Amino acid sequence: MALRTIYGFDHPTLREKAKRVPKVDASIIRLIDDLAETMLAAPGAGLAAPQVGVPLRVFVVKGEENQVIGLVNPELVKGEGVQVGYEGCLSYPGWVGEVARYEEVVIKGRNRHGKEVRIKSSGFTARAYQHELDHLDGILFIDRLTSLDTLRKLEDLEDEEEEEAVAVVEA
Ligand code: ZN
Repeated sequence: MALRTIYGFDHPTLREKAKRVPKVDASIIRLIDDLAETMLAAPGAGLAAPQVGVPLRVFVVKGEENQVIGLVNPELVKGEGVQVGYEGCLSYPGWVGEVARYEEVVIKGRNRHGKEVRIKSSGFTARAYQHELDHLDGILFIDRLTSLDTLRKLEDLEDEEEEEAVAVVEA
């Protein structure tokens, strides 16, 4: 396992449509492990391969029990309900904005063993999945803001909220 460099929004792979992975081989397993280590070190709620300069359809997300879930060729099967909240991106550190997402999602993809899996999630984790799926299509959270006025520094949001704990998905 190794830490990879997380690139910013100005890196070209962040705007590319990532390619499907033909086979979950040793290099893909290594990529999943590196993404996991890099996400946990950041720390973040998710990390997609294009963020480390690899234009492949692979990401990791921190699950509801803080376990790391790595998915290859993930797809949205179903989305229901709406959640509106702040999110940020490890490729745009320190900034957050308000984005509307499905409240619940079902995602399918292949795991590190090449086995097809379906995962149902809601809330914070469902937001992270949708954020990572977007990364695979070159879409950034700043493209999905409910309003440009909601884009702000995370520290300013924390000041505004004061007593209230601010839980922001950074992925
Ligand atoms: Zn991101």
